Amino acid sequence: MLLFFIASAFGGECNSKRAYHLNSEYNIYVCNTNLKSSTLKAVEYWRNIVPERINIHTSINCSYEKNLGSIYVLNGEEEVKKKETDDFLPYAVTVSTRDFFTKGFLSSEVHVGATAYDKDLDLIVAHEIGHGLGFDHVSKSCYGHIMNTTLGESGYDFY
Ligand SMILES: [Zn+2]
Repeated sequence: MLLFFIASAFGGECNSKRAYHLNSEYNIYVCNTNLKSSTLKAVEYWRNIVPERINIHTSINCSYEKNLGSIYVLNGEEEVKKKETDDFLPYAVTVSTRDFFTKGFLSSEVHVGATAYDKDLDLIVAHEIGHGLGFDHVSKSCYGHIMNTTLGESGYDFY
């Protein structure tokens, strides 16, 4: 048992699962100009990790059409508040629509809350776009990993 625990703490659990991946190309839309800088940085980050083509659109109105591979990044305080509990308010939430047949992600909306602006917005947006690209959370023990649930335990590592 101990061996298994050690192995999982340093190994498998940190490999981010990509259960919902079905796209060969992604289109990321910046819906609010104050999210442009963070989104551009996040796209540069993920382009070095995923093999798929990622296009970024910064000058159009967001239609929120559920097209395959669309990811919308917006100020979404309402959606964030829905996830609020007595002792927890997320900085951002990503809501994804899944394909009925394949269960893969069709499109995602990254809702950024007001509190995210007092924190590391670049890192928060990069993490949420990771969800839009189909990545799940890794274990909390995976310090520095982009897909760590806890902001203070996460960073730009991907391993
Ligand atoms: Zn997350």
